[in-house]
Amino acid sequence: FIYLFNSNITLGKNGVPVAENFRLEQSTVADTVQAGQVRVKTLYLSVDPYMRCRMNEDTGSDYLQPWRLSEVADGGGIGVVEESKHQNLAKGDFVTSFTWPWQTEAILDGDSLQKLVPQLVNGRLSYFLGAAGITGLTALLGVREKGHVAAGANQTMVVSGAAGACGSLAGQIGRLEGCSRVVGIAGTDEKCSILVQEMGFDAAINYKKGDVAKQLRELCPGGVDVYFDNVGGDISDTVISQMNQNSHIILCGQISQYNKDVPYPPPLPPDTEKIQKERNITRERFLVLNYMDKQEASVLQLCQWIQEGKLKVRETVVEGLANIGAAFQSMMNGGNIGKQIVLVSK
Ligand code: NAP
Repeated sequence: FIYLFNSNITLGKNGVPVAENFRLEQSTVADTVQAGQVRVKTLYLSVDPYMRCRMNEDTGSDYLQPWRLSEVADGGGIGVVEESKHQNLAKGDFVTSFTWPWQTEAILDGDSLQKLVPQLVNGRLSYFLGAAGITGLTALLGVREKGHVAAGANQTMVVSGAAGACGSLAGQIGRLEGCSRVVGIAGTDEKCSILVQEMGFDAAINYKKGDVAKQLRELCPGGVDVYFDNVGGDISDTVISQMNQNSHIILCGQISQYNKDVPYPPPLPPDTEKIQKERNITRERFLVLNYMDKQEASVLQLCQWIQEGKLKVRETVVEGLANIGAAFQSMMNGGNIGKQIVLVSK
């Protein structure tokens, strides 16, 4: 059996993660499955921006534990039960967990696993790591809990990190919940054209090209009412400067700041903070884990939209456990469109 160990991950607080922060090793899984446990084969693993925080001794969050040097890394994963000594799980069941070890095979406590119903996502199991999992929940609950979106209110929503896992869903959900105009900001022309042609955004801006402020003024002539912020930094300062009185920021993430030694959420620069206060723009911290009481109903809503074709889903799939470090590095640098997934075995 192959294990992926993380080595040399303590980058200091500042630093860019690279594939070489991880290493692959071969090891063996115990022969016997104890009462309450299951033996699983890993099918899919997720790589996510929050993992950058787990590479620091101090993750900056009490809900995130650091990865330990030379221990197996873990995160969201999906697998199939191959042998079970747990009363509610049987061979052939598909299961998931937020703390799935980065291993091809593992013995796990059955109580730590949630059973999956593949029919809910038309058999696309990996969606449970994205559109029908934490990513989809983040987009949906972010919009519902912090967006103040009201049907018929003629609101304009802007999404940064718009072609990523959360962002691509957040814009579509903003529209489904009633925004009249949705504009995305993303890092390549290809991403921008997918947002408009496939995902129903009204327009998209490539922030690496041209004048973002000018394009935003042209594309949002009535100003910005709801801002789904995945990135922070200069992009967000530009968007906030064009936000309306009594408008709302959904403070989802600040990926442009994750390799820097700054607190979360990073304070706004003084000029931007002045605008935020004067215009009474809300900017409350949003953490999806605080809304897990809404998980079940929200996942059903997301699955229904997926089945009805109302929510378009994109994935970028890398094959092989050996490539998970490279997949993480690539996602942090914009190599993904939609959710970055690692296919471990078929
Ligand atoms: P993702 O958007 O699929 O992937 C990250 C994307 O960020 C990249 O594709 C890249 O796209 C963009 N990016 C990287 N560096 C950037 C920079 N310096 N400036 C602007 N864009 C940059 O990842 P995700 O899983 O959906 O996460 C998106 C955000 O949501 C992250 O901030 C994450 O921390 C946050 N999040 C929050 C919660 C919560 O509970 N609040 C839960 C899940 C995720 P480009 O090509 O466009 O640069």
